[in-house]
Amino acid sequence: MATVTFFHAHPDDEAIATGGTMASLADEGHRVVLVTATRGELGEVDEGFLDEGETLAQRREVELADAAGILGAARLAFLGYEDSGMEGEPSAERPGCFATADLDEAAGRLAELLAEEASDVLVVYDEHGGYGHPDHVQVHRVGMAAAERASTPVVYMATMDRDFMTELRRKALETELATEEELEGADTMGEPAARITTEVDVSPWIGTKRAAMAAHASQISEESFFLSMPEDVFAEVWGQEWYIRVRPEPERLGDGVREPGLALDASAAVLGGGSSGVGAGG
Ligand SMILES: [Zn+2]
Repeated sequence: MATVTFFHAHPDDEAIATGGTMASLADEGHRVVLVTATRGELGEVDEGFLDEGETLAQRREVELADAAGILGAARLAFLGYEDSGMEGEPSAERPGCFATADLDEAAGRLAELLAEEASDVLVVYDEHGGYGHPDHVQVHRVGMAAAERASTPVVYMATMDRDFMTELRRKALETELATEEELEGADTMGEPAARITTEVDVSPWIGTKRAAMAAHASQISEESFFLSMPEDVFAEVWGQEWYIRVRPEPERLGDGVREPGLALDASAAVLGGGSSGVGAGG
């Protein structure tokens, strides 16, 4: 059995980006560790949602613990930084926020945890954090540096298939399932399809993933665009999760050849792609 650490920026990112993969690994008996850099202090919340005297960070910590439990995470840890807010906001330059955290110090904190867990696998984000949020970009930097320090054998970047997202956006606009505004940025998310090495079919865990997303009620309400879509559309949109394997370097993946799950140890990962079949050998 392997230990797989998922490193995320804010509470709710784990459910949205990697929830199905986490649930599938936990179901298979692997140890799933969730590390979240911040408590999402700067998220938006509807007036009256919080209890008297309750802060958003407190609520989001509870929501994250619920989601982690739903997804089967064996451990949940915070890296101890504050949410930076959106790019260009003064909040992103404040001391203590994750985006401007000292890289060495932050990577040291994560590396310590990776070593303590003897984590076989680390999952971070792609170079632009999927969509450019400064905390997400920092997850990439800090995660890569920490994996180096801890000599974590297998490293993946969670991402989205940009070509899939662009097509989805086109279909959603055509069928008037969503508005331009709701789909803003969909066509620049993630990475081009050719870079994707790994596509996990999480449809068997789609209910678990949805429940984990719903646990983040302060951020994702049942009326939200994410959760209000019909069940079959939800499964189409959220039924797969994408990764780019960083190491071991995949020799025969990418360009349409994708492995169907995360490789959990480095020696098994060297070949890669053999079982996915899509375009293999071609
Ligand atoms: Zn986030």
